[in-house]
Parts: sequence; structure tokens; C-alpha cells
Amino acid sequence: MRTSVVLFTCDLRLSDHPPLRAASGPGRRVVPLFVRDPAVDRAGFAVPNRLAFLAECLRDLDARLRERGGRLVVREGDTVSEVCRVAAEADACEVHMAADVSVFAQRKERRLRRELESAGRRLHVHEAVSTAVPPGAVTPASSDHFAVFTPYYRRWSQQGLREVLAAPRRVVVPEEVASAPLPEGTEVAGVSPGLCAGGESEGRRRLAAWLRSGVGAYEDRHDDLAADATSRLSPHLHFGTLSPVEVVHRARGAGGAGTEAFVRQIAWRDFNRQVLAARPDATGRDYRTRDDRWRTGKDAERDAEAWRRGRTGYPVVDAAMRQLRHEGWMHNRGRLLAASFLTKTLYVDWRIGARHFLDLLVDGDMANNQLNWQWMAGTGTDTRPNRVLNPVTQGKRYDPDGAYVRRWVEELAQVPGGTVHEPWKLPEEVRADTGYPGPLLPLSEGLDRFRRARGRR
Ligand code: FAD
Repeated sequence: MRTSVVLFTCDLRLSDHPPLRAASGPGRRVVPLFVRDPAVDRAGFAVPNRLAFLAECLRDLDARLRERGGRLVVREGDTVSEVCRVAAEADACEVHMAADVSVFAQRKERRLRRELESAGRRLHVHEAVSTAVPPGAVTPASSDHFAVFTPYYRRWSQQGLREVLAAPRRVVVPEEVASAPLPEGTEVAGVSPGLCAGGESEGRRRLAAWLRSGVGAYEDRHDDLAADATSRLSPHLHFGTLSPVEVVHRARGAGGAGTEAFVRQIAWRDFNRQVLAARPDATGRDYRTRDDRWRTGKDAERDAEAWRRGRTGYPVVDAAMRQLRHEGWMHNRGRLLAASFLTKTLYVDWRIGARHFLDLLVDGDMANNQLNWQWMAGTGTDTRPNRVLNPVTQGKRYDPDGAYVRRWVEELAQVPGGTVHEPWKLPEEVRADTGYPGPLLPLSEGLDRFRRARGRR
């Protein structure tokens, strides 16, 4: 019987999974393998929220495989060595896996190919598993990647997507291949209390509910902080419990006004991946440097810590930062405001903010996080690098009634309506009673400093 190994990485699902589909079929055996690699953890993956979510994804994947007669094989160690070992134990002739853009993943893929080939086995790497349109599939005439979103999106929209693949009905796993125990999500300490649930079953349930009753209002309501009217599918797209190809097909199939605005966001995800594939150093280096000399030293660290703790004195920024800590997730408008405040009002290096986000975000993702931070800091692909978001006017615009602030900033829970965005205007005795801090600095001071810094050459 022909045997294949399917290596799962950021694609923890059975539905619409090209590597699994290519490996399975009548008369074939498959080892569905996940490797817990300490090198991945050391590279910054191992934070409580993502570890807990991952554990749920693996349990769900195992359960879904068992429904089909199979099971998940989990191993711990160096990915390349473990894949080769499992392939030898199962006498597999080939290994299937999804393509990935990070330098880390590509280095691993090259090493794996070499080692497998030296043992007479083949590696098949499948595109359009973790993206809808693979990086490099569309390029401008003069470069290996698009640096501006709008023309990218035009070309992206014209690409024909592959068809959605059904999950295999039956998976036969060789008995001789043993598995380490599945990780327990409940064993992870320090998880955000409001963390969402992981796993393909949960992802599919969320997607169905979103397409039924959420996406229609997306275009009008996606920026409304209190309405919480975005899909919240980002952790599922990050861990691959949902396929971006399937999400786009099904969203388009659902039709309605909000659909294309939503699909456009999936294109942003692909856009960031094609930037990172071409410029892997953009995870840590300015994509387009503005020669910033970011603030450092004690004052800058004190300000950054107030930002991390949600105690800047600017309610909408603090609400967003507290949502991040509580849920391991933050509304996109909150992310923009928090990032603008740190980099432009406090003039603190975007890498410090990006690190904090990666420490907590369940969807924390090198491409999306680092490149969105760079976009907001003005060192990325943004065409308006000096734009500064004013947290008071933005708060009044995207949280006009103040409900988002009151939800997350308990000191201000009794302050009515939109006045909550300017607590310094409350009568002094009322303000002092709330215990909420005064503003870290006047906005005009931050703006002057930023303009001076960016103005110099
Ligand atoms: P929806 O609005 O429902 O969008 C659907 C999907 O499109 C999202 O799930 C996501 O996969 C994708 N998407 C949406 N907005 C963007 C965007 N601006 N860039 C790329 N893809 C997008 N997203 C992450 O997935 N991981 C991150 O680590 C991350 N860090 C960010 C950091 C900053 C400073 C900023 C400004 C944005 C960041 N984003 C990140 C993008 C965006 O904020 C989240 O994807 C979105 O808020 C997730 O919520 P949702 O699933 O409800 O999104």
C-alpha cells in the first residue's frame, strides 16, 4: 500500500486541504503529522494564548481524523528529523506539506527536501493552502512584489482561485506509527481570560454564522468599535483551521453588499505575505526607512509601559490595549489607534509595539503584525507615512456613544455618552474619583515631536 506523510503546520484542518487530498484515496495510507518543534517556540511562537489555541486545534484535528478512521500523530523535536523518522517508520514514499513564506519555514523546507531525497523520498509542497493567491502569483512588471495594495488587489481579484476540496471521507493511518500525547490547552498558564475557542469545527461554525448574519453589514459597520461587527476569523486563518480559498469562495457565494469589502481584507492578508516572501527582513527592519531615531531610555520605557498597561490617559487607546490583554485579540480600528499612538504620539519604535502584540495576540502573525505595524509607523508600504490618528477624534468617530471605552475601561464605566473620550473635561472631583490617569502628554506635544523628527533630513 502506498504511504504518505502529511505534515501539518499552519493549516490545521481537513477541509480544503490540498496536501491531505493529494495524499489520500482508496488503497492509500496517510500519516497526518504535527511536530512540536522547540525551534518554533524559541522563534517567538510559544506564548500562552497561541499555545492554548493550538492545543484546541490539535485536539479537534485528531477528533475529526478519528471520525474518518484515522488519528493525528504528534511528535516533539526538530521538524526535519521527526518527519524523516516518521517517514522511515511508516515506509512512506513521499511527504506533502503547505508552502510558507517565512525565512524560517523556507530554510526548513530546503533542509527537509535534501534529507528526504537522500533517503529516496519525495517532498511535495502545495501552494494556495495558507493564502488564497500564492505569493509571487501576481507581480508588477518591474518588481518581484507589489508595494502598493490597490494595484495588487486589482490583479488579485482577477485571479481564478482553485476549487474548494472536500475533506477525505476515510483516512487510514499505519498502526506502527506512535504518537506523543496531544497537548492540553488547560495546562497552559497565563492565558487571557476571554480567549476564543480554537479548532476547525469552531472555525467552520463561526464562518457559517458570519456568512449568514454578519458579512452583509461589514462594509458599514466594520469600523464601529462597540458593535464588534467584524468576522473574528483571524485566529482561524492564522492557524489554518479555515482555508482562505474556501472563505473567499463562500463569501462571494453568499453575495450581498458587505461581501467584497470583506474579501478585500483577505486580499490584504495575501498582500502582506507576498511582501514578506520578497522582503523577509521586513519582520525586523524598516521596509522603507524614514531614518527615525526613536525615543529610548527611561522616559520612553515608562511611556511604553503605560501603553502596554492601558494607562495612557487616552480612553480609546487604553480600551484597545485592555481588550488585547483580556481577549488576546483586538479590533482592527483599536490596533490602528494603539499603533499610531505608540509610534507617532509617543514616538516609540514600532518593533517594541509589535513585540507586545505578538506576546498576546492569538492571531499574532509575522506577516500581518509586523507589516501592519510598519504601515502605521510609516516605515512600511503606506503611501501616507506621516498620517497621525488623533485618539480623541477617532474615539468620537468610531465609538460615538463611548460604549467600547466603558466596556474595557472600568474606571470610566459610569461616565455617560461620548464625554468618556475626554475625561479631563469632567469636573475635577468627579475625574479624581474615577482613579483613571490623566493624559501621558498633550497630543500637540507628541505631534510636534513627531513632525520635527520626520521633518529633519
Ligand atoms: P475582519 O475585518 O473580519 O477581516 C477578515 C480577515 O481579513 C481577518 O481575519 C484577517 O485575516 C484579514 N485582515 C483583516 N484586516 C487585515 C489587515 N489590515 N491586514 C492583513 N489582513 C487583514 N492580523 C492578523 O491576522 N494577525 C496580526 O498579528 C495582526 N496584527 C496587526 C497589527 C496592527 C498594528 C494592525 C493595524 C493590524 C493587525 N492585523 C493583524 C490586521 C487586522 O487588524 C486583523 O486581521 C483583524 O482585526 C482581525 O479581525 P477579524 O478577523 O474580525 O477581521
